[in-house]
Amino acid sequence: MPPTDSTPSNFIRSIIAEDLKANKNNGRVHTRFPPEPNGYLHIGHAKSICLNFGLAAEFGGLCNLRFDDTNPSKEDVEYVESIKSDVRWLGFDWDGREYYASDYFEQLYQFAVELIRAGKAYVCDLSADQIRELRGTLTEPGKDSPYRTRPVEENLNLFERMRAGEFPDGSRTLRAKIDMKSPNLNMRDPVMYRILRATHHRTGDKWCIYPTYDFAHGQSDSIEGITHSICTLEFEDHRPLYDWFLDQLNIHHPQQIEFARLNLSTTVMSKRRLLELVQQGHVAGWEDPRMPTLAGLRRRGYTPQSIRSFCERIGVAKRNSTVDIAMLEHCLREDLNKRAPRVMAVLRPLRVVIDNYPKDRVEELKAVNNPEDPGMGTREVPFSRVLYIEREDFREEPPKEFFRLAPSREVRLRYAYIIKCVDIVRDAKTGEVTEVHCAYDPDTKSGSTQSGRKVKSTIHWVSAAHSLEAEVRLYDHLFLKPDPDDVGQGADWKSNLNPHSLEKVTSCRVEPSLAGAAPGSHYQFERLGYFCVDSAGSSNGRLIFNRTAPLRDPWAKIEKTQKKG
Ligand code: ATP
Ligand code: MG
Repeated sequence: MPPTDSTPSNFIRSIIAEDLKANKNNGRVHTRFPPEPNGYLHIGHAKSICLNFGLAAEFGGLCNLRFDDTNPSKEDVEYVESIKSDVRWLGFDWDGREYYASDYFEQLYQFAVELIRAGKAYVCDLSADQIRELRGTLTEPGKDSPYRTRPVEENLNLFERMRAGEFPDGSRTLRAKIDMKSPNLNMRDPVMYRILRATHHRTGDKWCIYPTYDFAHGQSDSIEGITHSICTLEFEDHRPLYDWFLDQLNIHHPQQIEFARLNLSTTVMSKRRLLELVQQGHVAGWEDPRMPTLAGLRRRGYTPQSIRSFCERIGVAKRNSTVDIAMLEHCLREDLNKRAPRVMAVLRPLRVVIDNYPKDRVEELKAVNNPEDPGMGTREVPFSRVLYIEREDFREEPPKEFFRLAPSREVRLRYAYIIKCVDIVRDAKTGEVTEVHCAYDPDTKSGSTQSGRKVKSTIHWVSAAHSLEAEVRLYDHLFLKPDPDDVGQGADWKSNLNPHSLEKVTSCRVEPSLAGAAPGSHYQFERLGYFCVDSAGSSNGRLIFNRTAPLRDPWAKIEKTQKKG
């Protein structure tokens, strides 16, 4: 997609455009999306995916999918597979350029040997704790390891034996020999290799030493000929280290550019925390529709188009901030408004009997599938004597400003007639209204010439005999406060979990056109919101719908006031 006038520009786009002008990298643009396969992708990753794949496409370049799989104890093929399917679902294609840092383990090992030979790396026998102790602080310089001056030959010998499995886990490391007094802590002789006997999801038990992320990441980018290594701000302090490795090795030097990570209100974004929610059973897995994971959002009913448009709108900045989740929902509504067929569904049914409508008569009424898109056509909705309406569309004692159905009041039934409430039936014990009796006016059929009469509101309904039973799951924000970390002293972020984030409503009634609706398909339930057929639960004729978002749009209001101000 070439940038259009409406595409907001960003500083990364400008850097790449400048580089191309200067014919840097011989005019090549090559980016990558580099996930660690230690969890499912979330909406923050979508920002990075859209940026990396988007910029490559825009400038006629390439984007790789590379798994930074240097930590076998936390990684799994389940994550690799989910990541691939999520990137594809978002609408991006790596054209077979699927790479793994683990494919470079031998090359990385050779790089390490090269640095040892050049006197730039040494085998250190200090424990992790001891290394930390000597590392110093932001205000205090570190102290040299007693092993720092080991002769090259001895380092080569020990490193080879580390690889051969002669030493126990954690007993030795390979460290870069840089500067223990550097103001940048990352430069204080960082660890390049550790001994770890863990089975890797790709290399099995071939290795018992693994490169650190810091040693693998920059070199992997270099090996792949990446021109622009786009990453999040927390890696800014690592850039001097990545540059140091590339300079010492004298290999291709990608340009690292940092941007602010996406934070969203009322949710958490770190994979560590999301894993905790899954493992402790606060949600029903990574694909729970309340999760900010792409798998969760997909099951909730989010479309790839809405997520891409969200990522484009939030832009790219150099300063961390939090985006209001209402904006994500706004992008969803904007997209589904154009594409989701309208249907009628009643979540909490109240029986309505139209006394003056013939008992065995059924009319097929014409209903518009999407007023935004006439091309989507019309369908027929059956109307009969006994209907269901939404319980909250009737009030026995209507408060001020309530214009829906009430004793002696009239409303229009969508696509049908004007009805008037003439009587109510109550439960003898509880006094609750169980049935409403109405009279319809045959001259008021929607679309007919005599239907000029106006009433104050139109409500939705389904025919009792023709409607289908369904379960509906209503979702609310996962956390109660915009910032889940906003807790009292001693309390955990999880104390902010919203206990009402999921409400299951059973015995809902939906119009018959929804019979056999395909899992994942989107609908607008008139007056209620956007819903999608649950992809996991709806089977053998059972209909389960997830509410993706209600119709009201808080973001539209926020935006309006922002524009005024
Ligand atoms: P997390 O902190 O959520 O666990 P991570 O940074 O460890 O994420 P990676 O798998 O290393 O996850 O991320 C792959 C890419 O996605 C990296 O380039 C990373 O910078 C980017 N990324 C991760 N989280 C976000 C975010 N919230 N916003 C934008 N980009 C992100
Ligand atoms: Mg990471």
